Amino acid sequence: METSNEALARAEESRNHTVKIYIDRVEKISPAHTTGIALYNLGQVPNEYVLFREMEGRRDDELVQKTNAPIHLKEWEHSAVAEQLIRLGVGRLSEFDSQCLEASNTTRVYGSGLKDAGQPKVEIIRRHSDHIGLGTNVTAVDSDITQRASAELLRDCDVIFGCTDDELGRSILCRMATDYYIPVFDMGVKINSKDGEIVSVEGRVTTLVPGTACLFCRGRITAEGVSANVIAKHSKAQIDELRQQG
Ligand SMILES: [Zn+2]
Repeated sequence: METSNEALARAEESRNHTVKIYIDRVEKISPAHTTGIALYNLGQVPNEYVLFREMEGRRDDELVQKTNAPIHLKEWEHSAVAEQLIRLGVGRLSEFDSQCLEASNTTRVYGSGLKDAGQPKVEIIRRHSDHIGLGTNVTAVDSDITQRASAELLRDCDVIFGCTDDELGRSILCRMATDYYIPVFDMGVKINSKDGEIVSVEGRVTTLVPGTACLFCRGRITAEGVSANVIAKHSKAQIDELRQQG
């Protein structure tokens, strides 16, 4: 029987030395300290394709250069916003996230424990909200807002906090602000490290309300970035089919 200390050490070790990543939706295990070339090889990425990396926090995706420059991978997710909203007494909260908790996430996901590995993150937040007991009614949507059915549910929200880490998701949030006049607070956090040491932590909150520029106008997202995300979310066969359809 593993003690909680051993389990935590194991989680910590896996966080520091190897990470589970997804390349074109296929699960891979990669050393945390790697290079662009190694990632392209690991994902068997065809020559004509490029890899984008979902960045820590809500930072925009970053093109992975096919070079030997060191890349430090880290799994990341977001639960702080939900925690704060629940404690502020928000009455109804809808959570959208398709990911399940990894044991190594436990060091930073609010309300999670090592035994929750494999559980949908939205369910962990809903359970945590019940535990806090302030009466917030949490709707857990176990799918991304890039799915149409989920995106449609966003229309019922009074305010949207964008914690997505891809440009496709952000482009959908833009439409919510401009088409439905729903205020969107889009957040991004960037943690810069050099030689394994954190050198800076930067945050960004962009408020999207009628009369303000959208994320495209502000240069936070681009059509090319959205397109790259769409390609990354679909298999090569699907992309080829779409191409054939023009
Ligand atoms: Zn705009």
